Amino acid sequence: MTHKVLVLGAGYAGLVAAKRCARQVRSNEVSVTLVTAIPDFVERPRLHQLATGQAIESVPVARYLRKTSVRLVIGSVVGIDLDARTVTTVQAGEPHVMPYNTLVYALGSNIDVESVPGVATHAWSLVGSGAASQVCTRLQVLAQRKGRVAVCGGGLTGIEIATEVAESFPDLQVTLVSNARPGAWLSPKAQAYVTRTFETLGVATRSGGRVQEVHADELELDDGGRVPFELCLWAGGFRVPKLARASGLAVDNQDRAHVDSNLESVSHPGVYVIGDAAAVAGAWGSELAMGCRTGGLTGPKAADVIAARLTGREPGRFRYRYIHECISLGRRHGLIQFLHADESPKRSILTGRKAIAYKNATLNGAKVLFRHPGPVLARRRHFISNGKSAKGPSQYRLPK
Ligand SMILES: Cc1cc2nc3c(=O)[nH]c(=O)nc-3n(C[C@H](O)[C@H](O)[C@H](O)COP(=O)(O)OP(=O)(O)OC[C@H]3O[C@@H](n4cnc5c(N)ncnc54)[C@H](O)[C@@H]3O)c2cc1C
Repeated sequence: MTHKVLVLGAGYAGLVAAKRCARQVRSNEVSVTLVTAIPDFVERPRLHQLATGQAIESVPVARYLRKTSVRLVIGSVVGIDLDARTVTTVQAGEPHVMPYNTLVYALGSNIDVESVPGVATHAWSLVGSGAASQVCTRLQVLAQRKGRVAVCGGGLTGIEIATEVAESFPDLQVTLVSNARPGAWLSPKAQAYVTRTFETLGVATRSGGRVQEVHADELELDDGGRVPFELCLWAGGFRVPKLARASGLAVDNQDRAHVDSNLESVSHPGVYVIGDAAAVAGAWGSELAMGCRTGGLTGPKAADVIAARLTGREPGRFRYRYIHECISLGRRHGLIQFLHADESPKRSILTGRKAIAYKNATLNGAKVLFRHPGPVLARRRHFISNGKSAKGPSQYRLPK
């Protein structure tokens, strides 16, 4: 009987995991199915470009899967039964129960619009290409009357949105609001560059107070301050779906699943959790941050572990480290902050248009990985039965 590998989510982690796993096994022995809610791959690090009227490429997931044995299912995952080993999806309005032997959970994260009151009602977030296009229309209308835009969140996403909006719509009054100084984690040289770029683009900053509530036309801060706006863009952190917790997987207080060094759930063998949905320990101890690179590292690793275990081989060691943080500040200014192995900032940075080119190359590199997730020639397609000769049947750890 065919062993069923079910991959949930076709983002930076899941797409690569599905393709790379399929390349290493025989399709008559192992079927790989990828389930995702949206037919197109959404390049989220470019959504702020879409929100400011720039065209960004949208590639159907099906195109990335051409000439592979991966079966694509467009549907929303609404439930996981870890005891029965089934996943319930809604496809074209109809519920479907999909059995699996091995599960890869890669449902990612999105901007948290629930933790602060008023965000879901009065603020806009770049949660997808539809939302980004609607924000674009609003920005265009608001620019005609030189309106005020409040961007909430001094992390990477907030900084990128504020600068992109200010550069594309110089008539708008853009204020970046955050509890800490925007980019406070960067090296002093990098922080100085960000501050200079804010001045050049006319981005005002308001830091020190945490947004307590978003009202229809102003932010209420916990230091008593109020920031008026005509449009509020929310970038106050990411949140992962509650599905992992609801299904009974062991999760942390952010609902990210606890996994071991092979990315397997510590509570449920045979379930692998990758990308933003997983709380993966970093080499230096703390967790890997959410980001595309985490998907790009954990997706291939999970595929290799699953393929190795199915074919009686030992998974290799998980090697990873982050080397940079790529930040766009509009289309003329960019910042690459190089990192030490523990993710603390090095002194060295790259700025200006060179940094923009570097970031573009990095984002395009991810798309190369989607097309060619390795192993290079797919020549190591192993039979499950071949595993017997490698280590002996007792070495298998096939999920039931
Ligand atoms: C505006 C914005 C800007 C960003 N900029 C950067 C940046 O510059 N650099 C960076 O490193 N990171 C950036 N990020 C974060 C980055 O996009 C994520 O960390 C990354 O996408 C996570 O990859 P993932 O594969 O874990 O999950 P995702 O990319 O979130 O993929 C999850 C997949 O699961 C699908 N899915 C989710 N729920 C369901 C469901 N119930 N049923 C079926 N399918 C479902 C989704 O449609 C998607 O295909 C940004 C995020 C946003 C929102």
